[in-house]
Amino acid sequence: MPHRIDPRSGVAFTLDKGQRLTVIDAEGGQVADLLAYNRADTAEVLSSGRTLDYASRIYLTTGDPLYSNRSNIMLRIVEDSVGRHDFLLTPCSADTFRILYGDDRPHRGCFGNLAAALEPHGVRPDDIPVAFNCFMNVPVNGDTGAFTVEPPLSRAGDRIVFEADQDLVIGLTACSAPLSNGGSFKPIDYRID
Ligand SMILES: [Zn+2]
Repeated sequence: MPHRIDPRSGVAFTLDKGQRLTVIDAEGGQVADLLAYNRADTAEVLSSGRTLDYASRIYLTTGDPLYSNRSNIMLRIVEDSVGRHDFLLTPCSADTFRILYGDDRPHRGCFGNLAAALEPHGVRPDDIPVAFNCFMNVPVNGDTGAFTVEPPLSRAGDRIVFEADQDLVIGLTACSAPLSNGGSFKPIDYRID
């Protein structure tokens, strides 16, 4: 049985080197923000900048490694039934909802959910970088660089599978941002093998 992350919430757990993490969009059209930290030293963290630099592409899929800020491979994508994920945008947060949506009493978002879940592992809010946003669909205009946040292309049961290259602490959410999830909030399932 997979574990379930309730809508608009997040969890943290350990993943050992060689283990596989399967992130499943249970109902379809739902984003999951993924973070990884080196368990022995949480100052080493997933790096969008290094990963995209080495890939020379912004859309990553099966076969692509995800690098840390120290240029070590943390995870490898070993399976992907969607082929569209985002690694440009930060986790949604109270500030996102205040600035982009004009909310007076904003939800804490993926950022707040990740900060709370990762705190027992020694991770501080300022240690949270751009997450790998599973299933997030951000098409970019190649000429102007303008982008939009569109509903995910994932359908119920779609998945992406990562293999750990280090002993890791993982943070994972069911994203809280209306635009990213086609206007409704659904759960995310995950499995460790
Ligand atoms: Zn989010």
